Amino acid sequence: MLVTMKELLKDAMEEGYAVCASNVWYEWSTQAALDAAEESGSPLILNYNYMPNVYRFMDYAKRWAEKVSVPVAINHDHGATFEEAMHCIHAGFTSVMADRSDLPFEENIRQVTEIVKAAHACGVTVEGELGHVGEADQEDNLNTALYTDPDQAAEYVDRTGVDCLAVAIGTAHGKYNKGIVPKIDFDRLRAIEEKVSIPLVLHGGSGGGDENLGKAAKTHICKINVFTDLHDAAKDAMIEAGFEGKYLPEIDDIAYFAYKDKLKYYLNLFGSAGKAKKYREIAPLEEGTERSVLK
Ligand SMILES: [Zn+2]
Repeated sequence: MLVTMKELLKDAMEEGYAVCASNVWYEWSTQAALDAAEESGSPLILNYNYMPNVYRFMDYAKRWAEKVSVPVAINHDHGATFEEAMHCIHAGFTSVMADRSDLPFEENIRQVTEIVKAAHACGVTVEGELGHVGEADQEDNLNTALYTDPDQAAEYVDRTGVDCLAVAIGTAHGKYNKGIVPKIDFDRLRAIEEKVSIPLVLHGGSGGGDENLGKAAKTHICKINVFTDLHDAAKDAMIEAGFEGKYLPEIDDIAYFAYKDKLKYYLNLFGSAGKAKKYREIAPLEEGTERSVLK
């Protein structure tokens, strides 16, 4: 069922788990993400940021999200302009991220407040970002100057009215350099939690380390974004299987199962598996069985 992100995150905060925002692109990855959630009895956020195809994406994503029995929000990831946010709301997204974290504090507030006003009028959830979650290959995760300031976070939330806030506490987007597991600043996270009462979001979940992510999921971090690990699971499985002598539908299937398995792993790690039953009394399936409504 299609829900707003606000509903999902409220429950996650109350019960101490995190909802995975899994990035999807074409149809097969959307199918794999929804099937992983359905088979795990887990809420899910479909994360999408490929702007030119937003209406085509929503044409199938919305219908499929309505069809599964678990609650699903559809979020526009890292929206950059007011127009993008309005397109996404018009197309039916149930939440939009307005990322102005590279702008000065006052300008970030000004631009995001404008989007919050329009989005809330349409019943759409808004995610802001303060501090800046940078790129793992640039080692931005080590740059504490980019981290979220707890006092500023309180002021930001109060003035913008955002529903949830992405924080910079030691993770970064993409792939960490080989052998590096980021160090999450849990003391800073606790300080932010003391000042900010809305759900918090962790970007750059891929390669974040199971111990870190499992621990973060029990805090007010209620949404964890995962892109690279799902992408790489699919890509690596395709490369391992080889292309020689195969039809593309076979290759699609290999990618689909690898993406789905990896996401199910994270749904368990984040503690959201089985939590959809609150919405519709759905028990997780026995290991090894499937309940795909889409394939
Ligand atoms: Zn991000």
